[in-house]
Amino acid sequence: MKEIEKLDKDYVLHTYARNYVNFKKGLNATLYDDSNRDYIDFTSGIGVTSVGHGNPRVAKRIFEQASNLLHTSNLYAIEPQALLAKKINELSGYDIRTFFANSGAEANEGAIKIARTYGKTKFEKKRFKIITLENSFHGRTITTVKATGQSSFHQDKFAPYPDGFSFNAIDDVYNAIDDETVAVMIELVQGEGGVFPFPKDKIQELAKFLKQNDILLIVDEVQTGVFRTGEFLASNLYEIEPDIITLAKGLGGGVPIGAVLTKHKDIWGAGDHGSTFGGNYLVTATGLEVLDILEDLKDSGKLDETVIYFSKKLNDIFEANKDIFLSHVGLGLMRGLRVKDADTLGNIIKAAFEQGLMVLKSGNNTLRFLPALTISKSEIDEGFIRLQKAINKIKA
Ligand SMILES: *Cc1c(COP(=O)(O)O)cnc(C)c1O
Repeated sequence: MKEIEKLDKDYVLHTYARNYVNFKKGLNATLYDDSNRDYIDFTSGIGVTSVGHGNPRVAKRIFEQASNLLHTSNLYAIEPQALLAKKINELSGYDIRTFFANSGAEANEGAIKIARTYGKTKFEKKRFKIITLENSFHGRTITTVKATGQSSFHQDKFAPYPDGFSFNAIDDVYNAIDDETVAVMIELVQGEGGVFPFPKDKIQELAKFLKQNDILLIVDEVQTGVFRTGEFLASNLYEIEPDIITLAKGLGGGVPIGAVLTKHKDIWGAGDHGSTFGGNYLVTATGLEVLDILEDLKDSGKLDETVIYFSKKLNDIFEANKDIFLSHVGLGLMRGLRVKDADTLGNIIKAAFEQGLMVLKSGNNTLRFLPALTISKSEIDEGFIRLQKAINKIKA
């Protein structure tokens, strides 16, 4: 057994089926292990390292910030927090305010608390129910597990769960709404549920219906947000105006940050919500640098170029291997290939890793790609060469 494996198994609680590679450094979308072997990273730490590994601008910003202040608490104004909230407001195009949390699940908890606040203050009879969608994923806290629209997550060992959550297929949401429903919470592209983008017309129809009936629309953009789909928010791409949006993964480029954005700007007062670490100097200064880098990437046209290039390569490998792939799916740099069965999918991921390529699984039959938004053409080329080699191996 490798030393890292023994150490991990002896002291860390076992919650992941881990791969015992020992990464030592990274450069953009390439990682190096303790034998200096290189890996092309098509995962970006599950959509987190949006500006790549070892980004020099991020490293410099973190060093400078850490040398001055990391944390003072939310009892005092925090300049980079206010600047990051302003930046999010500007990039989103919506008239919103932001609360900073530390993760996607925690951002979604905040969104649920905003919705329930609205349900209590706005209506004579309190509205508190939240409807989510089948195959959704919203997090691992007790409440966000319950909000997740997959029964397999609602394990009895964690019960009881909070009341007021149910999930439905998107077409059945309309009938599921009753006079206690306060919000519908959705992803626009289901990330964990198989890289599934909802059709734009269906989303727009739902958004319109909810607005007419004074029911809040919460969009969980923990995975789709921060330019992942090619626009700052997937909500921009779908041309909707949600009441509440949550962000996390790509926003900090690797530092833990979550955010709840809402157009109900005065819903809360002092004491209604809080977080010890949320929005501190470290994470918000880093978030500002990440957004500056990504804004440059978008404005220069480079991000759109990368999306087109990656899509072409994905389509090529799909066309060349139609015996194992059923279709290619996704938006921007959130992509997938549907694989004919779960065993083949597992074999591809394993064989790819042996070739020095990291790819993800989503749902039970989707090979998922979430590369850094800064990934280079040569890294994309090399990644797909390695993927084809892996596929050849499993076909042989
Ligand atoms: C990853 C993810 C979450 C959970 O985020 P954590 O930071 O792990 O709590 C929630 N919603 C969506 C859509 C996600 O992709």
